[in-house]
Amino acid sequence: MIIGKSRREIEKMRAAGQLVGRVLEELRRMVAPGVTTIEVDRAAERMIRDAGALPTFKGYHGFPYSICASVNEQVVHGFPSNYILKEGDIFSIDIGATLEGFVGDTAITVPVGRVSEDRLRMIHVAEECLERAIRQCQAEKHLGDIGWAVQSHAEAHGYSIVREYVGHGIGRRMHEDPQVPNYGTPGKGVKIRNGYVFALEPMLNMGTHHTRVLKDGWTVVTADDQPSAHVEHTVAVTEEGPQVLTRVAKVEEKEPEIVVV
Ligand code: MG
Repeated sequence: MIIGKSRREIEKMRAAGQLVGRVLEELRRMVAPGVTTIEVDRAAERMIRDAGALPTFKGYHGFPYSICASVNEQVVHGFPSNYILKEGDIFSIDIGATLEGFVGDTAITVPVGRVSEDRLRMIHVAEECLERAIRQCQAEKHLGDIGWAVQSHAEAHGYSIVREYVGHGIGRRMHEDPQVPNYGTPGKGVKIRNGYVFALEPMLNMGTHHTRVLKDGWTVVTADDQPSAHVEHTVAVTEEGPQVLTRVAKVEEKEPEIVVV
């Protein structure tokens, strides 16, 4: 059953979304060669709790951490660890926070230092896919329109779309109905209505769309070990159009001071 949200509920979800979006922006700025993914996880948990919220992922079906940390060929659900990020890696950070009973869920894939052109391009196309999906979040459209918006753009650029993991409805619980696949047929699937809130999360692979799960029971990797990119926003369908609840302004990078001697 799909639970439509009132305007008041959407405003509460916006508060959760803005919180988690701001935390993710801080984490993005932390990412650099030499940083471990567990450090990013600890920073995430501290920032979420300091803001009076709860890290939604921690304990979810036994997941032990506050973020999913998925590097390179890892698609989603990676465990933060003592792995030291190195130049050329791409690092997906997925994070959820629960504030006053409502969940915000968002993810980015961050290049670590200088990254190869083909990896940067995949991240860029994943971000474009997400923007295209967001534009489909309007009453009277269908879930197949969202899926097709992602799939057609990814495949046109030579990337495959992960099938086994999909976006989802979101509200008081992180995973609500419906499932929101990143593939589909225009005009098919559930009809979208105002008040629906979705976590849209395209997952693009450079090689095969097939995946497997590591022995830890969580970490999803590509079947051919080629890299993968994952981005996510929580989006409300409203009479005014799609509203991206987790989008925050990027903090400007501080220019290095130039000292003339
Ligand atoms: Mg999600």
